[in-house]
Amino acid sequence: MIDSHVNLHGDSYADDLDAVLERARGAGVSGMLAICDKWDSREAVLDIARAHPAIWASVGAHPHYAKDHRFLTADDLIGAAADDKIIGIGEAGIDFHYNYSPAEDQIPVFLAHVEAARQTGLPLIIHARNCDVVMEQILQEQQKIGRFSFVLHCYTSGLELAKTGLSLGGYVSFSGIVSFKAAEAVRTVCLETPLDRLLIETDCPYLAPVPLRGRRNEPAFVAHVAAFIAQLRGLSVEALTAQTDENFFRLFTRAKRVETVAETARG
Ligand SMILES: [Zn+2]
Repeated sequence: MIDSHVNLHGDSYADDLDAVLERARGAGVSGMLAICDKWDSREAVLDIARAHPAIWASVGAHPHYAKDHRFLTADDLIGAAADDKIIGIGEAGIDFHYNYSPAEDQIPVFLAHVEAARQTGLPLIIHARNCDVVMEQILQEQQKIGRFSFVLHCYTSGLELAKTGLSLGGYVSFSGIVSFKAAEAVRTVCLETPLDRLLIETDCPYLAPVPLRGRRNEPAFVAHVAAFIAQLRGLSVEALTAQTDENFFRLFTRAKRVETVAETARG
C-alpha cells in the first residue's frame, strides 16, 4: 500500500529513518510521497527520495510558512519540479485555524502553487483548514482558468468542500484522524467519497491513528488507516489498498510502480 503523505525530513526521524522505513516495508508499505513544507527543505526532501526507489517527493510551501514565501513564484516551483523524483506540487493551501501566516500571504502563495500545478501537469497537494468557503471559491475559479489535478489531503473540512473538490475531478485523502473518536464528520466525508477518488496517508510524524494515538506516527501505521477505512466501507483491506494504490498512480502520473520498500534499502 502507498502512504500518500509523509513528512520524513525533519528532526522526528533524524536518528532512526532507516529503521522507520524498514518497519514500513514490514507493514506492506510499497511507496510513499515525502512532502516538502518549505522552499528551503526541498533539497532535504529530494535527497531522501533519491536515496530510496519507493519514495517520491513534492516541492512547495505549507500555508503555515506562507509569510516566509512571499517571494516564491510559479516559475520557481516549476523549475524545482523538473526532477523526475518530484511527482507533486505542495503541500500548499490555506489554514485559517492556526493563522501562522496572514491571509494576504497565504492566498497568493497558494495561487503560485496552483499555477505551477497547472503548467507542470503535476497534482497539487492541498492543505485546507477552516477555509471551506474560500477554498471552494478558489478551486472553482482556478479550474475555470485552466485545469489542474489535486488532492485535498488529511481531510478534516466539511462535506461541501469535499463534494466541490470531487466535482472538479479532485481526490480526497484521509489520515488517522478518520479513526479518532470525535471525527464523525470526517467519517461521513470518507463514506461519501467515491472509492476511485480516495487516498490514504499517515501525515506522519503527526496524527498517529487509533490504536496508536499520541505516539510518534510513522509510515508503517498507514496500515491502521487502511484497516479502519476498509472496515468503515465494508471492504477487505486488500481490496481497499488495491484501489487506493491504483488511485495514487492515476493521480500522480509521474510516479512509477516499484516492488517494495525493501529495494530501497538494497538499492
Ligand atoms: Zn497538511
